[in-house]
Amino acid sequence: MTTQDTPLPGPRVNGEKVADLCRQLLEAVGEDPEREGLQGTPERVARWWTEFLDHDPGRMDTVFEEDLPAGTDRVVIVRGIVAWSLCEHHLMPMRLELTIGYRPCGSVLGLSKFARIVAAHAHRLQLQERIVDGVAADVAKVTGSADVGVVAEGTHLCMSMRGVRQDQARTLSHSLSGAFADGGILGGELLAAAGAGRR
Ligand SMILES: [Zn+2]
Repeated sequence: MTTQDTPLPGPRVNGEKVADLCRQLLEAVGEDPEREGLQGTPERVARWWTEFLDHDPGRMDTVFEEDLPAGTDRVVIVRGIVAWSLCEHHLMPMRLELTIGYRPCGSVLGLSKFARIVAAHAHRLQLQERIVDGVAADVAKVTGSADVGVVAEGTHLCMSMRGVRQDQARTLSHSLSGAFADGGILGGELLAAAGAGRR
């Protein structure tokens, strides 16, 4: 089992250039990068971009082999996985709360791996829908299960702080396949679990 075609963020941030651009940005918005409060800001910003985008989520493919007795029907649902990502349209943060479900077929995914799969997709410039689709594809790949569902509720600062200023608005998206798709009972269960996780 491998996750080698998961597009992991590699070391690719040019920190020096980011600091330089940050200095230019401060000037462009009418600030003096040399004033006391801003000294060191370009370097801090560059460190943040490097940490965020060069994030190493660790191994994602640890599965516990488990022989489920024939005829056993088990569903695993993990909820309350929180991730921060960056909206690629505005370079502003989005906070996602994810609920992931799958029906194991012989092997069970270690619970911490869900968070790592999510982090691998969140630590880059993203769209909420692409995170959900990518997480669903990785869970299906790592577990070998065709029955996978992922629901995400997102709060986007680009909606909260600018434009329409809908600071209570939440964006829901989901990716449902196999027994989770087509309005089946598992899809309903997953959406209910996602809703319960929000209260
Ligand atoms: Zn945005």
